[in-house]
Parts: sequence; structure tokens; C-alpha cells
Amino acid sequence: MEYTVSPEEVKRVKGMGFLQDKRYPDVFNARVITRNGKLTAAQHRVIAEACERFGSGEVTMTVRLTLEIQGVKYENIQPLVDFLAEHGLSTGGTGKRVRPVVSCKGTTCQYGLIDTFALSEKMHKRFYEEMRGVALPHKFKIAVGGCPNNCVKPDLNDLGVIGQRIPTVYLEKCRGCKKCRVEAACPIKVAHLDGGKVVIDPAACNHCGRCRNQCPFSAVADYVSGYKVYIGGRWGKKVAQGRALSRIFTTEDEVMAVTEKAIELFRTQGIDGERFADTVARLGFENVERMLIS
Ligand code: SF4
Ligand code: SF4
Ligand code: SF4
Repeated sequence: MEYTVSPEEVKRVKGMGFLQDKRYPDVFNARVITRNGKLTAAQHRVIAEACERFGSGEVTMTVRLTLEIQGVKYENIQPLVDFLAEHGLSTGGTGKRVRPVVSCKGTTCQYGLIDTFALSEKMHKRFYEEMRGVALPHKFKIAVGGCPNNCVKPDLNDLGVIGQRIPTVYLEKCRGCKKCRVEAACPIKVAHLDGGKVVIDPAACNHCGRCRNQCPFSAVADYVSGYKVYIGGRWGKKVAQGRALSRIFTTEDEVMAVTEKAIELFRTQGIDGERFADTVARLGFENVERMLIS
């Protein structure tokens, strides 16, 4: 039997993570939250079973690391929600609120400078799960990236975090080697010899840390690990490049605190329908930064 689902009901189930298949009036795709894109084998099995019992037997992946169970008939929505809940899984991830946090695999990636899975899971719990009831002017996307390679595009999210490793140069130890290993290791050619000493332009260095352990004389030896936070990025119909806050944060707690402030600023000062990028542009980046960092 084919149901006719009212527009109000389509909107309600969309809020639950069920997006209507445009080809049918009563078929939906269920967005399953994966926290940071990491699932156990048991969770995969549950989703596969749910897909066969309540959907068309197909799963698609979204660009933001969630899974969509395809072809869920309207009458199967609640049974699917209940089945997933029995196994600790849920649907959602839509609407004018904080969206599920995405992460690159910085925890295991050879270039990763921070534990992206741990931080993104922490952010997901605090800002997605615990703030599900908090309505915002628009959606708010968060991404956590392990290094300046930007695979997960943190600077194109409303708020993005990037792992950092900031080198300290001890000029007195630099011997002006014929072939500078630090220079050779720098992938963006920022480190170079000038007048027989290594020079790293702090404004151009992206803090990737790839020059670590390269200098045999410890001229570039100490590194500060931290987190760069971008605000006001956006991808899609209207692209906005996020801007980095001037401070590099050194603890996860600081990142959590500044993220909480940014969301609260958006909630209280954003105009309904505008993205955070517009709020930042309207209030002025420097003013927003002052409010977030002070
Ligand atoms: S952003 Fe860096 S840490 Fe993350 S996956 Fe890409 S290269 Fe690896
Ligand atoms: S930074 Fe190290 S490797 Fe490079 S020139 Fe100086 S001493 Fe040699
Ligand atoms: S931290 Fe990265 S960008 Fe900066 S000097 Fe070292 S290798 Fe180059």
C-alpha cells in the first residue's frame, strides 16, 4: 500500500534524519550517525541487518562520514529507529543545529599531529548529542583535521580544528650545512638558508612539523603541539574561506571552550537563516575573535 505522507510529516521525519527519496512519496533514506566516521564490526552488522529488514538493502555514504540506509518505507521509520536504538545507534544529523562532527584519520595517519578521533568524538558528544535541542540560526558544521594537509577541509566548515606542531629555531646552533636537512624536509619550501643560517618565516610556516628530528645539530629541535581553530568557513552554494583565530590553542579543553563560545555567539547573535560565515562578516572577524578569545 502506498502512503501519502503529509508535508508536515515529511518535515518531521527529516528532523529525525529521514530524507525523502524524491522519486517516491513514501520512501526515505535514513541517515545513521557514525560519530566520527568510525564504526565497529558489530555496528556495521547492525546497519547491514537494518538495511535488509527496513530498507532496500543498499547503504550509501555521505560526504560527511554518515551512512544512509536507502529505501525505507514510511511505515518502517519507527521500527528502524527502535532497532538501531536497541544497538546504541541513532539517526539524525539534519536541521538548524550543530551537525555531526567529521574527522580525518589523523590518529593513525603518518602526518597526523593530534588524536583526531578522540577529539572529534568528544566534540560530537558535547556539541551534537548534548546540544540536539539547541536551535541555531542555521546548521553549524565542525571538522577536525590532523595536520595542515587539510584532507577534511576544516577551513571550509563553520568551525574547523587543525593539528599543529610549531618549530623553534636556535640560530646559535645552526652550522649552515651545505645541504640543510630542515630545508629539504619542508614540503612548502618555507625553511631555507639565508646568510649561512636557517630561516623559517613564522607567517608562512604552516606548522606541519615535517622538519622535526631532521637537524643533526638541534638547531630546529623543540616543537609546540597545538590546535589551530578556523571560524566562518562554508562550502556549497556560496563558498567562504574560514579564517584562523590568531591564537594557537595547546589543550583539548581550550578547543572545547572556544567552540562552545562560538556556538553560543552564533545562537545569540546570528540572524535566523544566516550561516556563521555571515555572522562573522557582519560583526567583523576581529570583534568575533575578541569575543571568543577574551
Ligand atoms: S589531514 Fe593530515 S592527518 Fe588528516 S588524513 Fe590528511 S594527511 Fe592525514
Ligand atoms: S638547520 Fe641544521 S641541518 Fe639546517 S643548516 Fe642549520 S645545522 Fe644544518
Ligand atoms: S613546520 Fe612544516 S612548514 Fe614549517 S618549516 Fe617545518 S616543515 Fe616547513
